Amino acid sequence: MAEFDKADIEKLIDGVLPWPATQDMLKSPKDTNRFDKYVEIMQARVDFSDPILLPLTPNLFIVSEGGNRVVKCRCGQGFGDYRVNWKISALIRVRDDEASISEVYVGREMPDPKWMQIREYICAGCGSQLEVEAMPRGCPPDFDFLPDLDTFYSEWLGRPLPDKSEYVDKTLDAIAEWQA
Ligand SMILES: [Zn+2]
Repeated sequence: MAEFDKADIEKLIDGVLPWPATQDMLKSPKDTNRFDKYVEIMQARVDFSDPILLPLTPNLFIVSEGGNRVVKCRCGQGFGDYRVNWKISALIRVRDDEASISEVYVGREMPDPKWMQIREYICAGCGSQLEVEAMPRGCPPDFDFLPDLDTFYSEWLGRPLPDKSEYVDKTLDAIAEWQA
């Protein structure tokens, strides 16, 4: 496939193609060039200088902060270890009654508030809405994506990261610390 130049990738990011298409582009193996250009563009757009290791969404990034792999919003707000679901460190607005859910489900089939709730995850630093999910009441936040960073860098990009970290979901450990 033809090499994408930086301007093409910038257009993708800016909505010529929707985000899922951009992600597909980035998932294409053996084209580290696209990944590197994408990261370079995003690095210039964020309000922090820690190197981006992996973009999670247009607003959230796994970065290397003093050797620790943490999640940051583009504004610089930190969400902690990337192996902990970042959603538990966000502000959460819950819509769980008919009045509040109907505000966002105008003209569409509305989830039943007896069973479902809409959760909006907001950055405490800049107020951006980072994610919205409809979940059954009582279900923990969905951990959308826990990437295996070491495998991605060593096997896909062919340049292992200087350190290694155990590839495991640490969300419950973090919650247990709150309770201690
Ligand atoms: Zn933010």
